[in-house]
Amino acid sequence: MKPRKGRHVPQRTCVGCREVHSKRLLVRLVRSPKGIFIDPTGKMPGRGAYLHDRQDCWEKGLHGALTKALKTDLTADDRERLTKFMATLSKETSAQ
Ligand SMILES: [Zn+2]
Repeated sequence: MKPRKGRHVPQRTCVGCREVHSKRLLVRLVRSPKGIFIDPTGKMPGRGAYLHDRQDCWEKGLHGALTKALKTDLTADDRERLTKFMATLSKETSAQ
């Protein structure tokens, strides 16, 4: 990963593996009054957490990391929604 000159890229921590990456490589999740949602635009208001677009990080997220990061429990609906999204992601761990 080469840093680009002259352009500030915001860095965020994946709550699954705790690696820090530029925002582009991470999926934002946001806690709303209706539950935890995937926020592709990164603009939804609310407490946010980031995960890599790969399944192993999402598994860690679903097994407690998101609960901690967002300070809320995952409802059955949240779990279903996030598990469905996770199924669309790569199983590879090569994303950098
Ligand atoms: Zn990760």
